[in-house]
Amino acid sequence: MQCNIRNIVSLATKTNLVLRNHRPALSVLGRRNYTSGEEVDLVVIGSGPGGYVAAIKAAQLGMKTVCIEKNDTCGGTCLNVGCIPSKSLLNNSHYYHMAHSGDLANRGIFVENVRADIGKMMDAKSKSVKALTGGIAQLFKKNKVHLIKGYGSITSPNEVTAKTESGEEVVKTKRIMIATGSEVTPFPGIEINEQNVVSSTGALSLEKVPEKMILIGAGVIGLELGSVWSRLGSKVTAVEFLETIGGVGIDGEVSKTFQKVLTKQGIEFKLGHKVTGATNTGSSVKVAVEGVKSGNKEELDCDVLLVSVGRRPYTEGLGLENVGIVKDDRGRVPVNGQFQTIVPSIYAIGDCIHGPMLAHKAEDEGIVCVEGMLGGPVHIDYNCVPSVIYTHPEVAWVGKTEEDLKKEGVEYKIGKFPFMANSRAKVNDDTDGFIKVLADKSTDRILGTHMIGPGVGELINEATLAMEYGAAAEDVARVCHAHPTCSEALREANLSAAFGKPINF
Ligand SMILES: Cc1cc2nc3c(=O)[nH]c(=O)nc-3n(C[C@H](O)[C@H](O)[C@H](O)COP(=O)(O)OP(=O)(O)OC[C@H]3O[C@@H](n4cnc5c(N)ncnc54)[C@H](O)[C@@H]3O)c2cc1C
Repeated sequence: MQCNIRNIVSLATKTNLVLRNHRPALSVLGRRNYTSGEEVDLVVIGSGPGGYVAAIKAAQLGMKTVCIEKNDTCGGTCLNVGCIPSKSLLNNSHYYHMAHSGDLANRGIFVENVRADIGKMMDAKSKSVKALTGGIAQLFKKNKVHLIKGYGSITSPNEVTAKTESGEEVVKTKRIMIATGSEVTPFPGIEINEQNVVSSTGALSLEKVPEKMILIGAGVIGLELGSVWSRLGSKVTAVEFLETIGGVGIDGEVSKTFQKVLTKQGIEFKLGHKVTGATNTGSSVKVAVEGVKSGNKEELDCDVLLVSVGRRPYTEGLGLENVGIVKDDRGRVPVNGQFQTIVPSIYAIGDCIHGPMLAHKAEDEGIVCVEGMLGGPVHIDYNCVPSVIYTHPEVAWVGKTEEDLKKEGVEYKIGKFPFMANSRAKVNDDTDGFIKVLADKSTDRILGTHMIGPGVGELINEATLAMEYGAAAEDVARVCHAHPTCSEALREANLSAAFGKPINF
């Protein structure tokens, strides 16, 4: 078995390398500056993680590239009102919570008069956002991507018109890439004012800690932002239609443990409940809630209501109708395997097309789409796109869940290892959670890895790498892992999947 699996994996790895070695020589055009009025190779509309990465890659491959962005800063949702500011608040509220909750005192570190200065926390957040968004403008300069600040609209298959502060700029182009991302999905009948009825954007900029906060939706964004404000002292209640938390794709067992841990941290859950309306009195928000099965009604009240029911593709004013592109029933831009729309010169990537709404998914699509324009192979294994919830402990997964495998009738085996038995987690006194590896029962190939525990948002990348190269559980189990590290828990979970038993549990 060991030899077979290793041979198969090495073959898969070689195949990948062969594919990569046969990429066409792409850097043939040479990088050139754009001069207004001339035809370019590519116009990218949107500078989020999908658009800006694609624009840089295109320029690096020698394409004369223009990127059009309607906002004052580059970086899209991710850098301005998404991944980056949320992680700043998550990180700093976690430090506060450690000091305030007695966690530091339990480690022999006594800090007196612990208090949170929300203004300062927001300043730290804004400072990192400013540095990172400014960094994109610098990268554009370095790579000779021409940035037009304006609202891009497709006016023909080979023309984009940008409405800028000083008027209109028409750019003739060989190709167009739509990377316009997504926006908050509104909740019917509830008006968001970003003061006391907020979307994720408002929840990233509250001026004070609300005494009580209600989340509509216990998905990734709701739980991350709910965690921030809960740690800072808010009494947080999450109302969720489903019976599970963590959104789409989370493994059922991980979701249950996650709920237990967050409940221990003080977040209250009303699962299997739906919000039917909300009344904003100014001083508070009354939220009408109903049991999905029972039909029982009740009214909750809070100082801040966070509407976090998801995001939807954003294509407003883009001019799709000018070129005959019709959106699908969920407002997404339909594309083929090359990320090409029905109009061959127009491509689309990221949140505005199908697939998970994740920054790294948008980035990867941007890169392979651009390579494909120049004849390179276009392939993304969506089963190998990891997901992370950056709470504490973190939750992360890649590949199939047990629920998926049961539905598909795949025979699988499970390898599990608790962080309680991991030496690094133990010395760090950070032992909530476990790692679960799902492997094919007969071939040992890893089909999915699910984690809840300290720093698993980093560790999931090792599991993703293994899956991307078709590794067997035994392969990961035989890789030497530094000691003492939390990553040894991943090795042990793979040992358990491959041989039925870990060593240290
Ligand atoms: C609170 C929050 C936290 C998140 N955390 C994470 C996380 O931790 N990890 C993760 O992977 N994902 C996270 N996401 C999701 C992530 O932000 C998105 O998946 C990602 O930003 C999508 O990238 P994109 O390039 O497709 O679109 P976007 O980032 O939405 O960028 C689109 C850009 O296009 C511009 N634009 C739109 N239309 C036009 C036009 N007509 N003309 C000119 N410009 C236009 C917009 O202004 C915007 O800058 C989070 C999202 C939120 C809201």
